[in-house]
Amino acid sequence: LAGTPQTFGDTEAQREVRENDRNYVFHSWSAQGAINPLPIAKGEGATFWDYDGNEYLDFSSQLVNLNLGHQHPKLIKAIQEQAGRLATIQPALANDARGELAKRIVEHSFEGARSVFFTNGGADAVEYAVRMARHHTGRQKVLSRFRSYHGSTGTAITLTGEPRRWSNGTLDAGVVHFTGPYAYRSAFYATSPEEEAERALAHLEQTIQLEGPETIAAIILETVTGTNGVLVPPPGYLPGVRALCDKYGIVYIADEVMVGFGRTGEWFAYQGFDVKPDLVTFAKGVNSGYVPLGGVVISEEIHNTFVDRSFPGGLTYSGHPLACASGVATFDIFEEEGILERVRDLGERVIEPRLRQLAEKHKSVGEVRGKGFFWALELVVDRETREPLVPFNASGEAAAPFNAVVAACKQAGLWPFAAGNRLQVAPPLVTSEEDLVRGLDIIDAALDVADSYYTGK
Ligand code: PLP
Repeated sequence: LAGTPQTFGDTEAQREVRENDRNYVFHSWSAQGAINPLPIAKGEGATFWDYDGNEYLDFSSQLVNLNLGHQHPKLIKAIQEQAGRLATIQPALANDARGELAKRIVEHSFEGARSVFFTNGGADAVEYAVRMARHHTGRQKVLSRFRSYHGSTGTAITLTGEPRRWSNGTLDAGVVHFTGPYAYRSAFYATSPEEEAERALAHLEQTIQLEGPETIAAIILETVTGTNGVLVPPPGYLPGVRALCDKYGIVYIADEVMVGFGRTGEWFAYQGFDVKPDLVTFAKGVNSGYVPLGGVVISEEIHNTFVDRSFPGGLTYSGHPLACASGVATFDIFEEEGILERVRDLGERVIEPRLRQLAEKHKSVGEVRGKGFFWALELVVDRETREPLVPFNASGEAAAPFNAVVAACKQAGLWPFAAGNRLQVAPPLVTSEEDLVRGLDIIDAALDVADSYYTGK
């Protein structure tokens, strides 16, 4: 294959990869004239390399999907074995990998979970969850929070509560947004997380009443808001949402596309917040993205709606054998390597204390929040006013000061996840303790750059 370097420093191969990409690939979320992506030669575990041999410690897990790291040998083997036997089959025909994966997911889900509908990724999982809720309830509206990301297809981008929705307009007239809890930038003037939860719930109930409870099919919530800032829900909030759903006959959809499969130290993040959803969307971590895969976990009650009545929807690649085989291998690897235990242990023992220490040391860190292997440092230019280091611009991109912080990380060999004014820490769940410490050291140094823009006291 042209472009595969035999040795690093293969400038001809690198040039070809870069030129093909620039000339023929249309990029997501980008002005096509401005793109210049770094050609990547190979990856292993929590590390990847460019063609010049520069090494990057991956603190982003790519798009927070690479939970088991690059080139996990058991994931590769599972895909190879399945490809050698049955590479593809249409969804009306059963295949062993799909059935086994659905069983494993249901067994690890909430009590009363009944079945799994497979999709190709996160956005279509959201589309199908909403469709199920609408057919189940016979209602049309869906509520989602501001500061959320649910994917870029029609209903999913309309549900999304951040700038990426703005230029796409309203593609689903049934969507209504509400304000969720965010204690650091409280819209409710709350002074404690408990008060924030209480006031956010009062606001949500009022929104339900003003919109008409009998018109609302579902409320969708990321269990921990991901791209929009690792917003960990305050105590009582999610159980409160559950209670409102029960009171008004509304379906609770937990969007676990980013946080499912170990990111917060549980199989599914909702398991750590004392709440039981009706539908759960997942993707990313289910197989670390080795083959595109997502899906919806469905409660018994909603499943039963479609026992005598046909479900109107489907995808050619639903339950793709290669994807599902790597999903089954993911469960095996999690169990064999004690992934959940290491996420809890290293999250509490290594990541959290160090990030809290960085917040003490660097005045540009306004707040640290997170859980497990999922954290955000919210960067500000003034701790008192909480003015962000950079505000979002209309396309959700960061401006010069924040880019300088990101550049400092990359120059030192760390690939961070940056969004808005936040440096987010989301390493693969297999990252060694030594690499975690090294990555956090690099962030420490990069925060000196953030401090240089500080204007407060
Ligand atoms: N939902 C959440 C919470 C996400 O974080 C994402 C992607 O980042 C999606 C949905 C969309 O997933 P995909 O990009 O696989 O369509």
